[in-house]
Amino acid sequence: MPAPVIVKGAAVVASRSRLVRKLALFLAIVGMALLVGTASAMALPIAVLATGTSANAVGSGEGSGLPEVSGDWGYPLAGGYTKGRGFGYHPVHGCSFCSSDHKGYDMAQGCGARIFATGPGRVTIAGAHYGWGNTVIIDHGRGIETLYGHMQWDSIRVHIGQRVETGTVLGAEGNTGNSFGCHLHFEVRVDGTAVPPERFMAARGLPLQ
Ligand SMILES: [Zn+2]
Repeated sequence: MPAPVIVKGAAVVASRSRLVRKLALFLAIVGMALLVGTASAMALPIAVLATGTSANAVGSGEGSGLPEVSGDWGYPLAGGYTKGRGFGYHPVHGCSFCSSDHKGYDMAQGCGARIFATGPGRVTIAGAHYGWGNTVIIDHGRGIETLYGHMQWDSIRVHIGQRVETGTVLGAEGNTGNSFGCHLHFEVRVDGTAVPPERFMAARGLPLQ
């Protein structure tokens, strides 16, 4: 009668593999918690270092909803965010590779937060792009372009030539390129020249901090 022995052996293996699965799940949860903790810890220094003042968080958006829209345009992040460097002269202390003449507007929600197209247009860059790291550039026509820099590896969801609408998900907030903590570098160009995103967005009813 060898059958019961085999069954018993199988049951032990099954119970062991259940234990392994439970252990793996537990480790995954602990890992996620650590990752989230690291993400928020890393998002903070960029604001503190960049502005020299304390972080100035607004709201409590985690990037789960949709961005606020005004007419044809919308915010690149959904919900509240921490402001980093604004447009203009902003040296980053402790970051020798960060430019001091800042051509964009830095905003942070946390590593992995979704980044949205601010207006309708066509994607002209989707991938690694110089110091901006993983980048998407959208041509909105009439000489207007927007740039979204430092996205996470493998997070870009659009491709060159793709038509996007306001609120199309482009990728996730990351720390690639010349970056000092997870944040979105949002840049607006008119006829090839970077202009202050604060002014550009305010003129469309979407004031930045
Ligand atoms: Zn920037």
